[in-house]
Amino acid sequence: MTASATGEWAKTVLRRLRGEYPEARCALLHENPYELIVSTILSAQCTDEMVNRVTPELFRRYPTAASLAKARLPSVEKLVKSTGFFRNKARNITGMAKKVVADFGGAVPRTMDELLTLPGVARKTANVVLGTAFGVASGVVVDTHVDRLSHRLDLTKEKDPKKIEQDLMKIIPKEKWILFSHQLIWHGRLVCQARRPRCPDCPLEDLCYSKDKTV
Ligand code: SF4
Repeated sequence: MTASATGEWAKTVLRRLRGEYPEARCALLHENPYELIVSTILSAQCTDEMVNRVTPELFRRYPTAASLAKARLPSVEKLVKSTGFFRNKARNITGMAKKVVADFGGAVPRTMDELLTLPGVARKTANVVLGTAFGVASGVVVDTHVDRLSHRLDLTKEKDPKKIEQDLMKIIPKEKWILFSHQLIWHGRLVCQARRPRCPDCPLEDLCYSKDKTV
């Protein structure tokens, strides 16, 4: 199976994912778009579990973009320290909050172009926010799991996340973009892990021809 012939192939993979992960959803705990964008920025190079451990206190102290925009950087750094790269992340989330207040009246914007103007927000984060907080299918989230599994399941040959996303957008129907990313992320976490995929337990094993397979 090759990336150029994957329309039907994608449907087969989608059917199987739907059967296995019909209710896959974002694992970052959040109650509104502001909390989701902060959590997504913090999740870079960090597990969602760790992000979920630090955000309750962060959101208790800074419940809105307006309050985070006024926060002292050292206080924010201390709160997000365990997510790694904390200086950068603290700068990004406070910078994002300041721009949301200055340019968007304190509300997280709802378009890709506007989201991409915010510090710390690239296409992946924007797709997460648009898809999960607003239900807008603007693209396919390509995180580390989607990247790895798209290759293992022969949905792309590209290496660059933007090109991987373009390949996926061509072969996955638009109405499935949001759920598809969640399903691949769940499959990547639960079964098809990076170092030791649990192939004997994998519900997609008969569809998989990856060189990483362990059976
Ligand atoms: S068979 Fe193994 S490598 Fe292939 S999708 Fe399943 S867990 Fe991943």
